[in-house]
Amino acid sequence: MATLEIRDLHVSVDTENGPKQILRGVDLTIKGGQTHAIMGPNGSGKSTLAYSIAGHPKYNITSGTVTLDGEDVLDMAVDERARAGLFLAMQYPVEVPGVSVANFLRTAKTAIDGEAPKLRTWVKDVNTALGDLEMDPEFAQRNVNEGFSGGEKKRHEIVQLELLNPKIAILDETDSGLDIDALKIVSTGVNRFAEQGDKGILLITHYTRILRYIKPDFVHVFVDGRVAEEGGPELADELEANGYERFVKAGA
Ligand code: ADP
Ligand code: MG
Ligand code: MG
Repeated sequence: MATLEIRDLHVSVDTENGPKQILRGVDLTIKGGQTHAIMGPNGSGKSTLAYSIAGHPKYNITSGTVTLDGEDVLDMAVDERARAGLFLAMQYPVEVPGVSVANFLRTAKTAIDGEAPKLRTWVKDVNTALGDLEMDPEFAQRNVNEGFSGGEKKRHEIVQLELLNPKIAILDETDSGLDIDALKIVSTGVNRFAEQGDKGILLITHYTRILRYIKPDFVHVFVDGRVAEEGGPELADELEANGYERFVKAGA
């Protein structure tokens, strides 16, 4: 089973006032079959971690390593990371004007598999995935993220997850902006992915709400660019009751 290993990761971004350090030594190991939750206050660097693993050019890795089954992820081009089995759902998915969901999904699937999916089964698979997320087949004809509601963006991410079937999925605030019905539908999609048994999931979230529907095996509290505390699901319960104050104070 796959193992994503993040070791002592330090990341900075360039700002008008020079480089700004955001990640300050992140250590995290995600193995196939495990669901991890990263929880932390706004601005603690959670999305920076996701972008850094995704290979976003704005984020400079100043030290540390990220490996997938021993292979250097940071050395891979963005599309190689996807081919290696990494999937990243961003907090703010970008619009792709002029590209339909159907074409986008097919292009991504072709890039990852190295060959185009068989048309007949593919159309069926896409419609099944859309149906699983309680979306109309017509949705596939819309342009990617153009005019999507917050809920549609997040459902579309889970449609991708289902069709691309990566080894490790990193989901950044997949719960944000969802009403309770959409949250349940999206959570069910993530759980269906997890039930395959060999998948690693890193669920990044600010709120504990989604953890009522997706049960993490491990919870990491993220403060000021690093993991401040780790535990099991009980840590999420403590955060739900008491918030982040204890950790922020301890880290200050
Ligand atoms: P979180 O996802 O936990 O809310 P982020 O990773 O989005 O946190 O941001 C962490 C910190 O880094 C914040 O102070 C944010 O303003 C800063 N930051 C993130 N990306 C950039 C960027 N591209 N340019 C400047 N500052 C950034
Ligand atoms: Mg998780
Ligand atoms: Mg964020």
